[in-house]
Amino acid sequence: MGRYVISSGHSLRNSGAIGYLNEVMEARRVVPRVAHYMRQLGHTVLEYHDNTGITVSENLNNIVRYHNSQTRDVDISIHFNAFSTTNQPRGTEVLYYDQSALAARVSKAISDSSGLINRGAKRRTDLYFLNSTARPAILIEVCFVDSSADVAIYNSKFEQICQAIAHSIVGAATPTPPPPTPGLPYGVRVTVDQLNIRSGPGSNYPIVGSITDRGSYTIVEEANGSGASKWGKLKSGAGWISLDFVEVTSTPTPPPPPPTGLPYGVRVTVDQLNIRSGPGSNYPIVGSITDRGSYTIVEEANGTGASKWGKLKSGAGWISLDYCQKI
Ligand SMILES: [Zn+2]
Repeated sequence: MGRYVISSGHSLRNSGAIGYLNEVMEARRVVPRVAHYMRQLGHTVLEYHDNTGITVSENLNNIVRYHNSQTRDVDISIHFNAFSTTNQPRGTEVLYYDQSALAARVSKAISDSSGLINRGAKRRTDLYFLNSTARPAILIEVCFVDSSADVAIYNSKFEQICQAIAHSIVGAATPTPPPPTPGLPYGVRVTVDQLNIRSGPGSNYPIVGSITDRGSYTIVEEANGSGASKWGKLKSGAGWISLDFVEVTSTPTPPPPPPTGLPYGVRVTVDQLNIRSGPGSNYPIVGSITDRGSYTIVEEANGTGASKWGKLKSGAGWISLDYCQKI
């Protein structure tokens, strides 16, 4: 189960935008409801509201300090937008530093659940919350406080919006089953001594068993989910496994075309990423990246322990591309 810290933007002593709604007060309504829906799914959620910050920098420091003091998987900040008073709808958007997929998913979920216009994911590298929290972070601008159309939707769909935020962050929303993938089923062999079986496609689902025989299994369905580049459903019905730790033994699916466009830039999305002397977790660790920085990949290769390995331009070695995002 995941751990999350969610905070309201601004402070009781330094309010945010004010229009038909008061941003700081509404953010304080949204945070506990989102936390409630996340807890219903079994996750641990910590909430934070700044009651003391007077200046903008005091406020931001209070919020970021709290987030960084907790053990958690994702940092979430709730805000409301403002531009100019209007009766036209403006919509919802989610700001991110390096979490474009998560931000897009949350923005779409809010829109789908409420009818707010989906303004989508927006990359912002200048926001202190996004660039100073140490874990993957998103900042949600629920709607515009100065759009009467947005505010009407928000008031009538408040619970749906909070639930959509919660479900889209933890990846538990599965409104439509994925279309059948050509090439399924196929055989795999487990390449690690112990592989968890989960009740759903994601590390946020409970562990319901484990595979310890490095045996051969049949995958009947694939899905995306947190914690692995791809999840596979076991034919036995026992549950789902991470396909990062299996080798395909029989596949009627033609392999994807080799990636082109080398070299390319990536940003590391974890706090600590090993550098290995070769493309595989079987190669010795020769260093590590701890700055979540940007790096150039000059070569790709398949190897154990990751869906793809990338060679650093610096010559320092190879890193798992599962923990990088192309930039
Ligand atoms: Zn704000």
